[in-house]
Amino acid sequence: MAKRDYYEVLGVHKGATEEEIKKAFRKLAMKYHPDRNPGDKSVEEKFKEVKEAYDVLSDPNKRAAYDHYGHAGVDPSMAGAGAAGAGFRDFADAFSDIFGDIFGTGRGGRSQVYRGADLRYNLEITLEEAARGTETKIRVPVMAECDVCHGSGAKPGTQPVTCPTCGGYGQVRMQQGFFSIQQTCPRCHGSGRIIAEPCTHCHGEGRVKKHKTLSVRIPAGVDEGDRIRLTGEGEAGINGGPPGDLYVMVHLKPHPVFTRDHDDLHCEMPISFATAALGGEITIPTLDGQAVIKIPPETQTGKTFRLRGKGIKGVRSREPGDLLCHVVVETPVNLTERQKALLREFESCCQEGKHHPRAKSFMDKVKEFFGQ
Ligand SMILES: [Zn+2]
Ligand SMILES: [Zn+2]
Repeated sequence: MAKRDYYEVLGVHKGATEEEIKKAFRKLAMKYHPDRNPGDKSVEEKFKEVKEAYDVLSDPNKRAAYDHYGHAGVDPSMAGAGAAGAGFRDFADAFSDIFGDIFGTGRGGRSQVYRGADLRYNLEITLEEAARGTETKIRVPVMAECDVCHGSGAKPGTQPVTCPTCGGYGQVRMQQGFFSIQQTCPRCHGSGRIIAEPCTHCHGEGRVKKHKTLSVRIPAGVDEGDRIRLTGEGEAGINGGPPGDLYVMVHLKPHPVFTRDHDDLHCEMPISFATAALGGEITIPTLDGQAVIKIPPETQTGKTFRLRGKGIKGVRSREPGDLLCHVVVETPVNLTERQKALLREFESCCQEGKHHPRAKSFMDKVKEFFGQ
């Protein structure tokens, strides 16, 4: 296929000025840009053609050679690579507002505004504090503007300078085949500026780590894993962006007596062998004092007693939960000779199968298993 005339490709006359050529190219590049026409092969070809024409006509030496010798005067394979070399600034210039339009980045990244990062603070509180609610002070590390350089990152008396790698655009274009891809400038990381003499206090960061003390109100009923948001108390924004939020994560310290299951509390209560057999009353602790449980005669280990409303009222609950007390029959230890004698005597007057129904049923199963 015969190559079209470069002036014709850009739609300009032979005597067009540099400005006219640039303008024509911008218009066409915008129209045929691959990012705007993904996967369209014919548009890709058009874009390639437009770019090649521009590479030649925007370079005075190549343009002169083309005017003299036509396509033979310029090596098309060189034309394709022109964007990465000396012609890059022109190319970037021609593209800058196109990219501004497509990517919404504006001219360079220097004015890029970022919201500050959210922070997370792990707060440990007791079960009692969680149940009743509390107010506490927390000390949080934050990144705050450096007092010495006032956030610029440059040594006082010096100014950040335009990044020479990207010329202040914050983005560089890398040639890959005939597509070029836009990347954040590796030198200035997109800011478009570099600091020649960094501030010694913040090492050029512009921000330093500080601590601030905040008062946090913990509502009654909070549970493990709940989070409380303190709006705007996160890290400071960058370039005037809004600050992030601070999330206070609630963790409950283990309690010596109670374990929590949502709004319910559980506790384990050891009772003596005699109380379990004869019945009686035991006093158990609750979060707001104590309560008495009646143990009926012949209570087995593991039996659960429920005290309604003695649990915790959750943040979103209407009613408080229950306190569940699990009794455990405890085997006596440190027995005297007399106690041992009494137990032996007790044992000797037990009738087989009558006083220990669980043991009897177990033995019945064992016999059945062995087929006797
Ligand atoms: Zn500083
Ligand atoms: Zn740069």
